[in-house]
Amino acid sequence: MVFLRRLRHEVTGLIQLFLPPSCPLCARELTGFDGARLCTDCREQIPPLSASRCPRCALPYAGETGSSHLCEPCIRSTPPFTAVSALGAYEGTLRHAVHRFKYRGELNLDRPLGEMLAEALRPLCDEWRPDLLVPVPLHPRRLRQRSYNQALLLARELGKNLSIPVASRLLQRRRPTPPQRGLPARIRCHNLRGAFALERPLAGERILLVDDVMTTGATASECTRTLLAGGGGEVAVAVLGRARRHH
Ligand SMILES: [Zn+2]
Ligand SMILES: [Zn+2]
Repeated sequence: MVFLRRLRHEVTGLIQLFLPPSCPLCARELTGFDGARLCTDCREQIPPLSASRCPRCALPYAGETGSSHLCEPCIRSTPPFTAVSALGAYEGTLRHAVHRFKYRGELNLDRPLGEMLAEALRPLCDEWRPDLLVPVPLHPRRLRQRSYNQALLLARELGKNLSIPVASRLLQRRRPTPPQRGLPARIRCHNLRGAFALERPLAGERILLVDDVMTTGATASECTRTLLAGGGGEVAVAVLGRARRHH
C-alpha cells in the first residue's frame, strides 16, 4: 500500500513533466503556470474565513458583527494556543481538496495548498515569527495505514515557503486515539488527554502547530498543552480549513 502510493505519486510527477500543466483539482489546463498552483477558478472558489470570527480560535460567527469578542467555548475554557490562522472555511472547494489530499492519497496537492496557506500566514509571520513549525503527528499505526502524514507534508511546504525549520519528530503520539470525527468536544478532549509526548525538551520557542483541519480544537489544544508543558514559549495554530462546530 505504502509502496503503491509512493509509486503513484512518483509516476504522476513524471507524467506531469511531459504534459501541459494542469490544475491538480479540476484538471483544467493552466495558463501562465508558475509551479504548483490551482487554477484561478478553483482558487477563487475557496471559501474565505469569515471576517467575523473568534479572535482566539477563529470560529466563524453567523452574523457580520461582533468579531472582537471570544466565542462561547473559548469563554468557558480558554484554549492554550494564542491564535488560529486558516486558508479558509472548511466547506465547498476547500473541504473537497482537503479530502482528496488526506484520504485519497493525492499528495501532489501538498504544494498548491501549502503555498496558499503560506501566503495566508505571511502577515502573522511578519508580526510573530515562529521559531519552529510542528506538525500534528499521527500514531505510527495510523501512519502505516495511510502511509503519509498530511500535516507533515503541509508543514514542509510551509517551511520551504516561509523559511522556518520544521520539527518533524518533536511531537509524538503516545497512544492511538479513536477517530474524532462526529464526537462532541467534551468527549474529544477526554479521549486525547495524555495522547502526545515530546521527543526533547524545549527552551521557550515560538511554535506554529500545523494541521489540515480544525473542528473543535481539541487536538490542537492537547498538542499545545504538551508543547507548553515541555518548555515551549508560545503556540499558534495554522490549518487549511477552519470548520464550524456541529455540537
Ligand atoms: Zn482548477
Ligand atoms: Zn473561540
